Amino acid sequence: MRIEEGTKLDFKDVLIRPKRSTLASRKDVDISRELLFKWSGGSFNGVPIIAANMDGVGTFAMAEAFEKDGNGLTVALHKHYPLDDLTGFFEKHGGSGVWYSIGIADGDQEKLKAFMDSDVQKSGKGIEKICIDVANGYSEQFVDFVKRTRELCPQITIMAGNVVTGEMVEELILAGADIVKVGIGPGSVCTTRKMTGVGYPQLSAIIECADAAHGLSGLICADGGCTVPGDIAKAYGGGSDFVMLGGMLAGHDQSEQKVVKDGGQKFLQFYGMSSDTAMKKHKGGVAEYRASEGKTVKIPYRGDVTDSLQDILGGIRSACTYVGARRLKELSKRTTFIRVTQQINTIFGNES
Ligand code: 5GP
Repeated sequence: MRIEEGTKLDFKDVLIRPKRSTLASRKDVDISRELLFKWSGGSFNGVPIIAANMDGVGTFAMAEAFEKDGNGLTVALHKHYPLDDLTGFFEKHGGSGVWYSIGIADGDQEKLKAFMDSDVQKSGKGIEKICIDVANGYSEQFVDFVKRTRELCPQITIMAGNVVTGEMVEELILAGADIVKVGIGPGSVCTTRKMTGVGYPQLSAIIECADAAHGLSGLICADGGCTVPGDIAKAYGGGSDFVMLGGMLAGHDQSEQKVVKDGGQKFLQFYGMSSDTAMKKHKGGVAEYRASEGKTVKIPYRGDVTDSLQDILGGIRSACTYVGARRLKELSKRTTFIRVTQQINTIFGNES
């Protein structure tokens, strides 16, 4: 047994110090990024925010809203759309605005192969980006899966995760991932830290993993734990290239979930993808050998996501003006974090 004594930080533990700036207004800030992918040879140009591949968030409706919004945000589609629905969506919209998500089950790879052989893929309107997503990205089996997917899809951009430490980021990039997804336990409907005692404070994970990835010309995506626009700014300030959002984008018209009325107010159900609710819905129940690591919550209905997006993007632009970053790319170089807590007291993410 070992104890690591160094301080590890969460979003709540810091603020960004304002800096002298020549920027007159938020309007002068460009929050899109142009990013090149190490293995696929592809590139990204847009606001690097990704809707999480969760029920109620990673939906076709969300992708259509982002397409209409025109800022270049993308959606990781949840894994549970049938193949026909997916090919139909890609045929109509193309693949630039979405990530095709898969786990590492046999069925997932068969479904991906079937898509790769489809007419839509051959027509050039198919998958451009894949998100390989597992709760624990530390297994050898996962690394092998990333390697096999890279061989099967040499020109497709691959994001893979989740991990929280530099050495595993390096291993996944060397296995063929263009982007490594970072975060274990910070999610708004995640109970991993409570159920297993495992996790890593998210801001420190971002800072350490970004450093490891950038050293190999790879990228990272901070996944989980952002509850307000300021957290997204801190994630970029810490060096993250992309930020993935679940809870902040849940509860909107684009959720494809039923809105229920209770006491004159409207609500929606939002749940983790490893919760009892998700496992019952998609797998017919929780397997005997595993416990649920997600929870189900009732959240207020929030209308059209476009309105929430304005707030989110406005917050990030404003953060850039406070530190004099004319472009989002400059935010991390111009960020100095001030510690505002004396001890880590956020072990259970957003619940404490
Ligand atoms: P949020 O933005 O809501 O804080 O976090 C979203 C992230 O939480 C997702 O992208 C995913 O990585 C993670 N997540 C989603 N569902 C579950 C779950 O049931 N259990 C765990 N451990 N993490 C989850």
